[in-house]
Amino acid sequence: PAVLEARSLTVSYGETRAVDAVDLALRPGSRTAIMGPSGSGKSTLVHALAGVVRPDAGEVWFEDERLDQLSEAERSRRRLSRMGMVFQFGDLVPELTVVENVMLPLQVLGEKARPARARALEMLDALGVADLADRRTGTVSGGQVQRAAVARSLVHGPSVVLADEPTGALDSLTAEQVLDTMVAVTSAAGAALVVVTHDHVVASHLDDLVVVRDGRVAEAAVA
Ligand code: ADP
Ligand code: ADP
Repeated sequence: PAVLEARSLTVSYGETRAVDAVDLALRPGSRTAIMGPSGSGKSTLVHALAGVVRPDAGEVWFEDERLDQLSEAERSRRRLSRMGMVFQFGDLVPELTVVENVMLPLQVLGEKARPARARALEMLDALGVADLADRRTGTVSGGQVQRAAVARSLVHGPSVVLADEPTGALDSLTAEQVLDTMVAVTSAAGAALVVVTHDHVVASHLDDLVVVRDGRVAEAAVA
């Protein structure tokens, strides 16, 4: 059974059908690349799977619940506690330090500051940016923010990690290392990993490939 599933999912912005009747089932432990041209609906699909964007038709099932039917507050709570997200342009809080940003999901779950900080530092170390822990996030580079955002998406052991171009600001060697860490951490937890990417090398680290065109799944190769 899928941990996260879209059924006939449709999302429109006015006249634009960004996501058009998409069916997609993500099994625990699966690793999926989502590729496709710019404007084809990849970001919107991922945001709808995370319950950030509400569909105008279809269903999103997360851990045996209709995510799209929950209130905003309930969706946000599921997302913070059970999902990890990496947004394309990062959404870390610039006024907080890097480690404070990575601690946030753990603190939402009620973890105390000291163990939360220790866990966050381990994850930053796994991503090669532990030395930046106490820097204010607004003062580090785009690639460093991206790695901190990946650390934050993994730190609380989510059952699904959804990442929109998580390595776009990284050189190819660092991108591969970040992908390897994402795969290792999610595999160990039996979590599903979804990565939107334009990079075929990044996609090659994942097992399944979904190609989106004009809001539809044009090709799907599931291992
Ligand atoms: P990419 O093609 O690399 O995914 P886009 O430039 O399409 O990036 O989108 C970047 C951001 O701008 C996204 O958050 C998306 O939701 C938003 N966006 C894209 N197109 C529009 C639009 N026509 N109107 C408003 N926001 C948009
Ligand atoms: P991709 O991630 O593949 O680049 P997006 O999901 O960002 O695609 O965009 C899909 C379509 O929806 C595009 O036509 C884009 O312009 C439009 N779109 C995306 N976000 C918005 C938005 N917030 N408002 C209006 N149109 C949007």
